[in-house]
Amino acid sequence: MTESLPSIELTPPDIGPYRRGNTGIDHVTTLDGGRPGPHVVITALVHGNEIAGAVALDRLFRIGLKPMRGRLTLVFANTAAYRHFDPDRPFASRFVDEDFNRLWSPDVLDGPRDSLELRRARQLRPVFDAADLILDLHSMTADTAPLILCGHTERGRDLARWLGYPAWIVADEGHAAGRRLIDYADFADPYGARIALLVECGQHWRAETAMVALESCLRFLLLHDMVDPALADRHLRRHDAPQRVVEVTQTVTAETEDFAFNAPYVGLEILPHAGTVLGHDGGRTVVTPYDDCVLIMPARRPKPGQTAVRLGRLAP
Ligand SMILES: [Zn+2]
Repeated sequence: MTESLPSIELTPPDIGPYRRGNTGIDHVTTLDGGRPGPHVVITALVHGNEIAGAVALDRLFRIGLKPMRGRLTLVFANTAAYRHFDPDRPFASRFVDEDFNRLWSPDVLDGPRDSLELRRARQLRPVFDAADLILDLHSMTADTAPLILCGHTERGRDLARWLGYPAWIVADEGHAAGRRLIDYADFADPYGARIALLVECGQHWRAETAMVALESCLRFLLLHDMVDPALADRHLRRHDAPQRVVEVTQTVTAETEDFAFNAPYVGLEILPHAGTVLGHDGGRTVVTPYDDCVLIMPARRPKPGQTAVRLGRLAP
């Protein structure tokens, strides 16, 4: 079966000028606000084909953003995968050897395994160790409304609410296949103080997705008094969509090569009746466990062991 490719509205920016940076680590730049304040780290290209985040960081550099306090570190993460981005095969450059966003537990980072992504993760680890706040910019395969993944801590959810944008907030635990950057170290610890949010800014290659990424950065910095409001204002649009919080209750992990949904779900559908058949995984029938079940980011073609979809309830 041939699948039509989504159109690529974004042009991958040349990140060559940011390679040297000023931190001794390739493609990592720290801007100092000169006054005390938090250390915010914004990451793009954790997935090499999610170019909207790179477009947003490129914009931040180009508009001459300087933090008004604290420190702001801008990271282009999986640059090796990004280098292979090919508009004719846009899904192929998500990673080179393995998913960079499933490596963030000590046993993996300190373990004996080696891969291109692990080497980069080990190189970037000190940057995240020194962060107070992380904003991790991603995008999605399906044309879904943008959403914030705030993990499962209360402070993550509170920060997402204060941020107010994008409007959908998803509180979740991550994936069976490995720990995400936002769950690294004490960022996911209920008693920790540091906070990491991930924004899924929209469909990977739509022009709008890069706008959402840029706005997310500016609103995040505004919230922490780190950007001149007049400068930010020039790039912000009015939004009045009501916030909705979805609590993920379970992850459906594919067990076979034959996982298939029985409808073209894109995510954030609310299925009214418990027992609605979502799809099949080999001989297993996957159904919704309760009424008003929200689908979170159904995968395009999940392999065994990968997340097929997550299911959640709307929080009151
Ligand atoms: Zn991603």
